[in-house]
Amino acid sequence: MSEYKTWFREDRLPHIYCTGCGNGTVINCTIDAIESLGWEIDGTTFISGIGCSSRAPGYISTDSLHTTHGRALPFATGVKLTKPEQNVVVFTGDGDLSAIGGNHFIHACRRNINITVICINNMIYGMTGGQGSPCTPVGAISTTTPYGATEPVFDLAELAATAGANYSARWTSYHVKELTKAIRTGMEIEGFSFIESITQCPTSYGRRNKLRTVSSMIDYMRTHVILIEKKKRMEAEGKPVPDDYFTVGDIVKRYRPAMGVPK
Ligand code: SF4
Repeated sequence: MSEYKTWFREDRLPHIYCTGCGNGTVINCTIDAIESLGWEIDGTTFISGIGCSSRAPGYISTDSLHTTHGRALPFATGVKLTKPEQNVVVFTGDGDLSAIGGNHFIHACRRNINITVICINNMIYGMTGGQGSPCTPVGAISTTTPYGATEPVFDLAELAATAGANYSARWTSYHVKELTKAIRTGMEIEGFSFIESITQCPTSYGRRNKLRTVSSMIDYMRTHVILIEKKKRMEAEGKPVPDDYFTVGDIVKRYRPAMGVPK
């Protein structure tokens, strides 16, 4: 068995994810980043809350905590403060992180605790019934927004930057190389690192929003992004930026003093 495969718990297969779900891509990007950094299985802990994305640690060989809805960050904070030598990584989703866990999110950013948070943003509550989340786009259909969502969305990567995270970036599950690089950068930087991946959920989001096939969802992510540098340039030139585009790239990268750094 190759070194790579030892990160996965094959005894947990088959996994629960739907055909065409993007969660596996993000998990692979994460393991690739960890492998490139030479982290050890025994030195790494994964923590998650509730939702499809939060099932990810169950498929990885490290110690893990599968916690209650929205509470992955308090658990991660506890692990990091008591065992600062551990590499602590959180898998979460948009509903888990920004609705139920919203208060924990902003305060973990503010404390700038030395953990890496990977948010698989599928723009809906996937596992728990397809309800609208704070990241469901305006006009999108969910079980709680049958006539189209009307509330403005949270920009999670901007929120993390504003609340105090040392690193915040956004990519999509289409941008595998860029996403892997961002996760690796987040793991290297001391302090709170937040990497958001817009990710296809053909079952709960796509089929309700005219993106019924996996390829149509991936094509949407490919064509509806704008690099942050280009967006800033267009704004400076007074050119309109389409409001349904996802801004991708490094939102913030800085080196404020962090909590939970090994002595
Ligand atoms: S409901 Fe969506 S996010 Fe959950 S496993 Fe299925 S495709 Fe993936």
